[in-house]
Amino acid sequence: MRKIGRRVARKAGIIGYPLAHSLSPVFQQAAFDYYGLNVTYEKWEVTLDRLEEAVARLRSQEHLGSNVTIPYKEAAVPLLDEIAEMAASIGAVNTIVNKNGKLIGYNTDAIGFLRALDEDTDYEPDGKRVVLIGAGGAARAVAVALLTSGAASLTIVNRDDERARSLAAALARAGFEDRVLIAPLERGSLSRALDGVDLVVNTTPVGMRHGPCPDASPLPDDLVPGDALIFDLVYNPPATRLLAVAGDKGSQTLNGLPMLVYQGAASFELWTGEKAPLGLMFDRVRLALYGRLDV
Ligand code: NAP
Repeated sequence: MRKIGRRVARKAGIIGYPLAHSLSPVFQQAAFDYYGLNVTYEKWEVTLDRLEEAVARLRSQEHLGSNVTIPYKEAAVPLLDEIAEMAASIGAVNTIVNKNGKLIGYNTDAIGFLRALDEDTDYEPDGKRVVLIGAGGAARAVAVALLTSGAASLTIVNRDDERARSLAAALARAGFEDRVLIAPLERGSLSRALDGVDLVVNTTPVGMRHGPCPDASPLPDDLVPGDALIFDLVYNPPATRLLAVAGDKGSQTLNGLPMLVYQGAASFELWTGEKAPLGLMFDRVRLALYGRLDV
């Protein structure tokens, strides 16, 4: 893997809109500083009509690359020269690397999700049954990550049926047709889908502290499995209602914090060739989110 020099001043950043609450600058700058790299990580908040220009700017020698976040993870794809395999299956990028003027797109959300499963749980996706709640961008990355890793079946549950069908169709086009199902958000179907499931992943903002319904759960409490792994992509609060109920029933639980840090670590490693200082990155995020380290 390439390593970058320390003398020349370089830039990296995050492209999105809005960016006020992005945590990436907090831990990416800490990681660059840890190695004494002369890199400034900036927020590049752009409207859609300036996206092409913002991406084109990354080709200059000064830029290492960027993160890409909501709402441009899909719109950035056609602006790049090469797309890594997993990102191509997902149809979205969250990391761009400038390799001598050539822009390469990656999806480290998928990489971060798999690393969180690997390092923070004893769960192995191969041959397992999954229920995926949500059908947006994060759901797509999680679905491809799990199906690529050999999940036996993946059932999509989403508020908007049309969006669930659209995700299923995209997964079929990526070659996963025979393992993808849709369950309507109706009690009977939900109960059947959750019966004997190995992994439930929440990719909606339901339960998020500053989200649309902070104290709610995406599943009725009585249907939350007691013998599965429940992975909530929400990281604030550290234990959502879904995770609290699942934990009380005996399920293993994981929030979105490790995935957040691991996706950032993967981006850092792609830009610099250095091993991400994970402990430092976790600490910075915990302090920014919770104001303390022991969470
Ligand atoms: P997105 O593309 O906008 O998709 C949002 C999904 O959530 C859709 O399926 C939407 O359903 C559903 N949803 C939204 N509000 C809802 C509500 N009130 N009730 C039920 N369903 C609702 O967003 P995204 O990029 O996938 O991100 C989703 C969540 O994942 C966010 O909370 C984000 O912070 C989190 N995330 C975490 C990480 C991490 O590293 N931990 C990484 C990426 C994303 P409809 O289709 O019915 O609208």
